[in-house]
Amino acid sequence: MTERPIALMWFRNDLRLSDNPALLAAIKWADQNDGVVLPVFILDPVISAQLGGATKWWLEKSLSALDTSLSKLGNAQGGLRLFTGDAGPILENIADAKPIKSVFWNRLYDKPSTARDTEIKATLQDHGLTCESFKANLLFEPWEVKTGGGTDFKVYSPFWRACKKFPPPREPMKAPEGITLFEGGIENEVDLAAFDLGPKPFDWAGGFSERFTPGEQGAKDQLFDFIDERLVDYADMRDRPDHRVTSELSPHLRFGEISPYQIWHTANHFADANPGKGKTASKFISELGWREFAHHILFHATDLRSVPLQGQFRHFPWSDAPEALTRWQKGKTGYPIVDAGMRELWHTGYMHNRVRMIVGSILVKHLLIHWRDGLAWFDDTLVDACPANNAFSWQWIGGCGADAAPYFRIFNPVLQGEKFDPKGEYVRQWVPELRDMPERYIHKPWEASPLILKAAGVTLGKTYPEPLIGLKEGRERALSAYQDMKQAVA
Ligand code: FAD
Repeated sequence: MTERPIALMWFRNDLRLSDNPALLAAIKWADQNDGVVLPVFILDPVISAQLGGATKWWLEKSLSALDTSLSKLGNAQGGLRLFTGDAGPILENIADAKPIKSVFWNRLYDKPSTARDTEIKATLQDHGLTCESFKANLLFEPWEVKTGGGTDFKVYSPFWRACKKFPPPREPMKAPEGITLFEGGIENEVDLAAFDLGPKPFDWAGGFSERFTPGEQGAKDQLFDFIDERLVDYADMRDRPDHRVTSELSPHLRFGEISPYQIWHTANHFADANPGKGKTASKFISELGWREFAHHILFHATDLRSVPLQGQFRHFPWSDAPEALTRWQKGKTGYPIVDAGMRELWHTGYMHNRVRMIVGSILVKHLLIHWRDGLAWFDDTLVDACPANNAFSWQWIGGCGADAAPYFRIFNPVLQGEKFDPKGEYVRQWVPELRDMPERYIHKPWEASPLILKAAGVTLGKTYPEPLIGLKEGRERALSAYQDMKQAVA
């Protein structure tokens, strides 16, 4: 009996059924050719290198959810086939052993992925296969958006204005109504346990599932909950970590469990249905613009993770301070808002954007620790750690990135805390040893009198640390390091 022709759908950061153009094209191809679809995920070195502890936790759950959805859709066991190793040889082996005719995927934009995909495309085409790739993870292709002079944008506002001059992003595509799955065995296929994605060296991810439900359904629930309950306050309250106002869609976007098209259109429908609320919807959509900007910068940069976009920062006199770094990682710096953020991160795999900015600023300015150390810690502990957004944002914090906050503009964590967590509720939630501090001192316990500290059960240096460095001293040291760099490159 001749085997039916196969369309191979190669999943990567697009772990969803709806609004998935490559999957829809694979199903269409199979239907038109009396064929079947083989959905595949390969844990290859490129993907592995982009995973930290927290994203591994997420990926395991997301792959399991996708497998269940595909199996249900195709009414068959084992919807998603898993492999581990170099993607090129794995795909070639499958193509040699089975009647694969066409391979489909959605495009990625980081250099290791584009290099791998280009090579694989050429090899598979040499084997007589057709390969089709699709725009699905970004609203605008990085090579489409250019300045009037034909160069890449380095500043966000004109970038986003230019994006908005393009025709609006297409409507999201519906999930397929069915799929005829390939049902035979395949050599070297593994099960999910073989990916070994569980938290190590102990299970530190217990708090993640209190906050998130990985998978496409979790993403949709999160989006609709946000649109129904929180988008209305987004523009005014998005900087407040003491109120849950933002969408918390970032880990779902990271793994493509939801597409920016679905988010864009749902937010715009909200604006159409709620006259007078356009401002809040467009503020939210503009954050998707920052995501686009970060991905475009990643596409064009040499190595966003390690090379500062502003070359002078190669000469910055970073200090080697392993003890301070450990205290920062553990949320024991002695600055309450910073410690609250770092502990939220450890417990939930997530941190509010404003607090990411504050903890980042303390690290690279008051503590003079290299932004790459912050980036590495976030890469390992954030469930949304993403090659574009994380590297882009750390360069922004370090003053050396695209459209970055100038290095000499230094956040004061006390003033930031008092402005964005005025009653100290966020600090009380994550730093319970300060729970009984009065509002006036919650962001600066070192200014409280011994009597007040005693009444709150706080002994500085014992129950809660003294600040790692005085704020004035840290600020002056950072500014002087900045001047040293300027002189070194003058
Ligand atoms: P919302 O406010 O609801 O925004 C919606 C979406 O827009 C987000 O999910 C995200 O995809 C995008 N977005 C929002 N703000 C930004 C931004 N400043 N830059 C780029 N995209 C943005 N975001 C990540 O997705 N992954 C990271 O690894 C990451 N690392 C960061 C590191 C630092 C030091 C800083 C300052 C920011 C980082 N961000 C990162 C950006 C931002 O903090 C998160 O995207 C945001 O907090 C996610 O929460 P949300 O989904 O509720 O955002």
